[in-house]
Parts: sequence; structure tokens; C-alpha cells
Amino acid sequence: MRQVRFNHLLGLAGVSREVITEILDSAEAFLEVLERPIPRVPSLRGVTVANLFFEPSTRTRISFELAEKRLSADVVNFSSIGSSMSKGETILDTARNIEAMKVDVVVIRHSAQGAPHFLAERINAAVINAGDGTHEHPTQALLDMLTLRHQVGRLEGLKVLILGDILHSRVARSNIWGLRTMGAEVTLCGPATLIPREVESLGVNVTHNLDEALAWCEVVNVLRLQLERQREGLIPSLREYQRSFGLTRERMERAGREIVVMHPGPINRGIEIDSDVADGPYSVILRQVTFGVAVRMAVLYLIAGGERVIE
Ligand code: ASP
Repeated sequence: MRQVRFNHLLGLAGVSREVITEILDSAEAFLEVLERPIPRVPSLRGVTVANLFFEPSTRTRISFELAEKRLSADVVNFSSIGSSMSKGETILDTARNIEAMKVDVVVIRHSAQGAPHFLAERINAAVINAGDGTHEHPTQALLDMLTLRHQVGRLEGLKVLILGDILHSRVARSNIWGLRTMGAEVTLCGPATLIPREVESLGVNVTHNLDEALAWCEVVNVLRLQLERQREGLIPSLREYQRSFGLTRERMERAGREIVVMHPGPINRGIEIDSDVADGPYSVILRQVTFGVAVRMAVLYLIAGGERVIE
């Protein structure tokens, strides 16, 4: 088995096509493992993984934990609620203490951009970024790409529309890096106030007209409007936002052809996407969740257990 080793997964910026392909190919093998009656392999036996979640998460936290258990790793979970963090302990102290208990891999989610990079420079354990502020969420973009490879069969030349709150979205940033590296064409659509100006330098197109964008794309990845991160004046009102940028059935029908619909979750139903689109025939939203476990297994395996083959 060909294998590209890497020590940490901090983001997709600067990650090569070769590494992304290796992760997606390994994830395919784990998808097959997940179909088995007993979906478990011993690849990470003896490896200890700590999940450090300093920001709320449901899907990502459960997905990582399941991936670790399916690989037979020993797992410890830490969430900042109810921990010494509330007594003023720093991330570095917490991580060092956890590392002193002989942890091999740290999965971290934090509201501060760069928190995983900061840790990776200071501790010996391998670090996986599970979302840092508005910066990156690399495993989400990898699972999005795996879903697309399955659904459409290719990434090269694929026309992907990323819709909504780009400004606050780590999912958008990781997707832009990953998709561009893999040769996809990317267009961003949303209100001007929610699209950062510097983004065009990343080789993407920007539009504020959703109907035009839908006429162009093969895939639409709808982002959650990050209500907890909004500042005054970025959107006039939720109704206005929904009217101009909400993905509705009427809009999909106007486009007049099949468009793959994705959403990283959690969904604000009736705001960025209507229920009949989210649950409709072109939606792959639940497949994304399934593929997330396989992608996280692949990342953990390549970081911590790469010498051993998948038995
Ligand atoms: N679950 C994703 C994230 O953690 C997307 C979102 O929260 O909107 O970034």
C-alpha cells in the first residue's frame, strides 16, 4: 500500500494533491470497513487519542470519537465546560497535562484561530484541527470532497458553488483550499458583507446573484448562517437574507436540472435552506455525515498508524 505520512493535520492550505488523494483513497477502504457486520479494525490498537473540545460540537465530536473507536484506539474526551479551563488554566497547560498521560494524538476544536498550530509547535503529540475559529475545518472539507467523488465521480473541473456566510466559515476556507488543489472550479455567492475581499486571490469567482450561480454549478454547498458570530449590520434581517440567498425549492426548480445539495450542519431550516431541499432528492447531507467517519478514520490512520496495513 502506498502511503504518504504526515505528522499533523492543521488545515488544507498548502496540503498537496498527493496527500489529499491519499487521504480520500484510504477513506474509501474505511468506508468498506464501516459496511462490515463488525465495523472495527485493530489499526490503532495501543494508540491513545484525546479529543479536546473547547467549543460546542455534536457531529464532529461524535464522528471523531466513533472513528477512533472503530480503529480500536484508546479514547479520552475533554470538554472545556466543567473543566479547569474555567479556573483559568491555559490551553497549553491543559494539553501538556494531557500529554503527560502519554497521549499520542490530540484532536482539538477551539474558538481561537491558530490554536491547533500553537499546540503542534509545543507538544510532541500529533495534532488534528477539528475547527479553529473562522479559520479552517480540514476534515469537513475532506469529507465533502469524498462525498463529491462518490456522487459525481470526479473533482477535477467540477463546478462547486459555496453559498452563504463565507466570512465566518472555516468550512468554506478549507473547501476552497482543498477543491482548488484538486482542480475544481469554485464560485462563492452571498451578500457582499459576508464575503471577505481577499478571497478572490484564492482563485475563486464571486457573485451576489444566486439564480445565476445556480445556473452555472453542478454542486451547491450551503453554509450555515453563523448567528453566534454575526456583528451588527452584516445582514439587514433574516427575512431579507432568506429572500436573496436562501436555497428554496422554487430556486432549484428554476435551475431546471439536478444539482447536488450539501450542508455541513447544523442546518438553520427556513433560513439558508428550506426543509424540502435539505431533505429532497438531490440532498447528500446525511451521506456527508456517514463519509465523515471514514475520512476521520483515514486521517487518524495515516497520522498515527500508517505503517500498519488495514487488516
Ligand atoms: N459544523 C461546522 C463547523 O463546525 C459548520 C457550522 O458550524 O456551521 O464549522
